[in-house]
Amino acid sequence: MKKPVIYCDFDGTVTEKDNIIAIMKTFAPPGWERIKDRILSGEISIRKGVGELFSLLPSEQKNQIAEFAVEQARIREGFGEFVSFTRKEGIPLYIVSGGIDFFVHPVLSEYGPFDGIFCNGADFGGETIRILWPNSCDESCENDCGCCKPSVIRRLGHGDDYFKIVIGDSVTDLEAAKQADFVLARDLLLEKCEEWGLPHSPFENFLDCIETIIKRTGVKEQAC
Ligand code: MG
Ligand code: ZN
Repeated sequence: MKKPVIYCDFDGTVTEKDNIIAIMKTFAPPGWERIKDRILSGEISIRKGVGELFSLLPSEQKNQIAEFAVEQARIREGFGEFVSFTRKEGIPLYIVSGGIDFFVHPVLSEYGPFDGIFCNGADFGGETIRILWPNSCDESCENDCGCCKPSVIRRLGHGDDYFKIVIGDSVTDLEAAKQADFVLARDLLLEKCEEWGLPHSPFENFLDCIETIIKRTGVKEQAC
């Protein structure tokens, strides 16, 4: 039996909604929607668009924005149980997020430890927030992703003895999903998995994810 390993998205997966959109709605000056629309239409890359969005926000609002993110983020049902399940079964769990560390880490702080959290960074030294990209695309990806999920998975280097599971909700998870042995998908990613014929199951909450992973990988049911 192969050993399971999980790469899990954050925005819209661990949290019910996209945190960057919530932050922009509250803190950005008018006009940010045009940048968002250009990202969604593919006119500009995620990296360029997210960089532009945060450059609209003054650095001095850092703490307010982080506090707002923690306050408004609603964690999807069953996530705590899901993390405990992976810890108990010894399944490596990585969070791979296109979000920014100053809100991703505080939102996740009460749920860890994780085997890794990969996301973008931020520099508050200038007048406005400058996004940093410690996980940008490797030579096999030309999408200018920002936080490049397939590159992160390649870098982690889990070989053929692993059963790779990707959990996500959006088109930004598709390239990672293509590298997975199995995908747990909702929303747009679910449509994309169907379109691409990727092995997948839908999920609504993380209790569904536990159930599917037990079925698919043969890990034992929790006897607690
Ligand atoms: Mg997402
Ligand atoms: Zn990439």
